[in-house]
Amino acid sequence: MLSEAVRSDIPQILTALPGPLAQAIIHRDEQVLSTSYTRDYPLVVDFGEGAMIQDVDGNRFLDFNAGIAVCSTGHCHPKVVEAIQKQSARLIHMSGTDFYYPNMVELAEKLASLAPGDVPRRVYFGNSGTEAVESALKLVRRQSGRDKIIAFHGAFHGRTMGSLSLTASKAIQRRGFGNLVPGVFHAVYPDVYRRPAGMSADDYAMQCVSNIEEQLFRAVAPPEEVAAIFVEAIQGEGGYLVPPQVFFDELRELAHRHGILLVLDEVQSGMGRTGKMWACDHFGVVPDVLTSAKGIASGMPLSAMIARKELMNWPPGAHASTFGGNPVAVAAALATIDLIERELLENARQVGDFLLGRMRDWPSRFAHVGDVRGLGLMIGFELVHDQESKKRWPELRNRLVHQAFERGLLILGAGPNSIRLCPPLIVTRDQADFALSTLEECLRQ
Ligand code: PLP
Repeated sequence: MLSEAVRSDIPQILTALPGPLAQAIIHRDEQVLSTSYTRDYPLVVDFGEGAMIQDVDGNRFLDFNAGIAVCSTGHCHPKVVEAIQKQSARLIHMSGTDFYYPNMVELAEKLASLAPGDVPRRVYFGNSGTEAVESALKLVRRQSGRDKIIAFHGAFHGRTMGSLSLTASKAIQRRGFGNLVPGVFHAVYPDVYRRPAGMSADDYAMQCVSNIEEQLFRAVAPPEEVAAIFVEAIQGEGGYLVPPQVFFDELRELAHRHGILLVLDEVQSGMGRTGKMWACDHFGVVPDVLTSAKGIASGMPLSAMIARKELMNWPPGAHASTFGGNPVAVAAALATIDLIERELLENARQVGDFLLGRMRDWPSRFAHVGDVRGLGLMIGFELVHDQESKKRWPELRNRLVHQAFERGLLILGAGPNSIRLCPPLIVTRDQADFALSTLEECLRQ
């Protein structure tokens, strides 16, 4: 049972952090868990409700990263819990690879109807973001008969060998793993804050696209051999970078001209996070393939690769997964999407506007905030040494993440020196106000 205390919507820190019970768990974890996990601060979670987390020592935190943009409806939303409970009492697993069950079809129909553009779609289910990307990579290579791929510097598409070949975020993610999938070429993503002096954001974004043609197509990846361009609508792990509209206009045109498929990775930016169902809806771009995961089932493992119907006509056995589209995860997704459509898109827009509205002038108020950007509840800001040089300051970013934790606010970094805010879509204005006041207090220090 949840304690009375956790119902309160504001953090309360009772012990030094980590508290004694948390310390004991961390000690055991260190003996037995893979050392590859990246824990930024010592939070040991007992339970969550809405946007709040309680740790094992009874400390209460406001969760402004929602399990890395996953718990879209908040922690343990009653409607999601009910859907999981009901479904798990009927059927937990059957394998959609080999058999049929109704809710898998229902969710596929729903996703096909939600996908951008009025085009018929088919859906493939996996369990994680990387699986969705992996399946998209296989689909575009097989169906186009072409083997080369364009992705972007700073991109994060996952960590299995195929998706890792597209990922170009941090060297540690690739170091020591040897050769990846060949034929992947990376282009520059338009980080408009760091564009060359004197150049407009639009010109820079157009230059990023024309460089694909001039530097990649002409030199290393003949366009008639390129199967697809993989791109994040908003670059997530890369630092929550929002590209200008013209970037997608030009990219779509380039892809179209050469018969190249456009794959939008919306694993982090999709499912209402930006105040629209998909971030690419803000740009009016209709992808050939769309990947979704994180927010889709409020924390149950599920992902979807949604492709144009005529593209996803690969033969039985070409690709499948034992667990993908598990009935319990699917039930959670149906409840999640219902909540997103009914209430949470609007809340994400409103609270997102409130957050961004108050953060817009941070660069003029705080010497070390370099840039603030975002859409809906996907907001990032950079920490820099000074605003003239824009020199990145990762140590200050890391310090801020810790200071916020000590005050009961859970945030995470993104990119080399940015902080990302991606609270659950149910977050209230009061909670947003608390988060901003806490961050402003930390920045003043
Ligand atoms: N694609 C994007 C855009 C992501 O942000 C992530 C994870 O952060 C992934 C793919 C990989 O997802 P997963 O960690 O579920 O494999």
